[in-house]
Amino acid sequence: MYIVPEKEIAGLMTREAAFAAVEKVFAAMASDDAYNFPVVREAIGHEDALYGFKGGFDRAGLTLGLKAGGYWPNNLEKRGLINHQSTVFLFDPDTGKAKAMVGGNLLTALRTAAASSVSIKHLARNDAKVIGMIGAGHQATFQLRAALEQRPFEKVIGWNYHPEMLPNIEKVAAEAGVPFEAVDLPGMAEADVILSITSAFAPSLLADHVSPGTHVACMGTDTKGKQEVEAELLVKASVFTDEVAQSISIGEAQHAVAQGLIRESDVAQIGAVINGTNPGRTSADQITLFDGTGVGLQDLAVAASVVDLAVAQGIAIEVDF
Ligand code: NAD
Repeated sequence: MYIVPEKEIAGLMTREAAFAAVEKVFAAMASDDAYNFPVVREAIGHEDALYGFKGGFDRAGLTLGLKAGGYWPNNLEKRGLINHQSTVFLFDPDTGKAKAMVGGNLLTALRTAAASSVSIKHLARNDAKVIGMIGAGHQATFQLRAALEQRPFEKVIGWNYHPEMLPNIEKVAAEAGVPFEAVDLPGMAEADVILSITSAFAPSLLADHVSPGTHVACMGTDTKGKQEVEAELLVKASVFTDEVAQSISIGEAQHAVAQGLIRESDVAQIGAVINGTNPGRTSADQITLFDGTGVGLQDLAVAASVVDLAVAQGIAIEVDF
């Protein structure tokens, strides 16, 4: 089996490779070639940690495995380690033998950024010029960097619950040569694409803050109870997601469905748009919303891609196992 350590991922994985892997696996999910296993997530009663497994099988890409890991809130303060820790394990689908063990921390950030980028590619207007960011934490910088590659954006506008964090995303905009402006939430009406990535449990973005024709990518809500946008926005929008079952239970759509504002059948898989079986955006004034909940198959897809790169470049550690 191969081992690809966390410290090698940054030098191997590119945003382009992550995008291609995620786009392909979303398509495979929509054509029933790939499915995610039920997620396990446990508060283990030690170090306040949340630990779990996200796995799946992609019959088209022949990728089988799981991501194991979670959140250790005391890591940074106590040990100088990042709080999110994960490792991906891949298995040979023909034999069940372990195939690879891959550092999953940076890959998680890249696959999440790739997901909103895939949604922008397939659902945003081609003439989108202004991108609005809600959130300015660790993940926001990855999301913005990847999103800026999908359209020739001329301006980034940003709002964050903690305004002192806004320089994090201002820096990413500056590196891409795009001007940045801090706005209030009604100011998001200027945006053609809005990308939301926060750990909020109450809506920031209201339906009235979003102009006709906007594409909204909601990336922060991945747990029961979290919420970034007003449920009424999902009534005004055409709603797409990575996986419908997750969207309506732990994703942004959980609230609109629970309140009876939309039904499960109102939420479509983005993979169907990629495959061409769902038309996606059909008019310039339609609001589209992508509910990116994060699925195990995304992790497996980027891990398989990085193993190929590591083997090709002679960086993968091979062990007899
Ligand atoms: P972070 O801690 O670095 O940043 C948190 C962000 O949320 C900051 O912008 C902060 O200001 C904002 N925030 C905190 N409390 C808020 C509140 N009450 N109202 C509005 N905003 C608030 O975290 P991160 O690593 O950037 O992750 C952000 C979120 O994305 C988390 O909820 C995480 O679980 C989620 N996430 C989702 C996926 C996915 O696949 N969908 C993947 C990775 C992370």
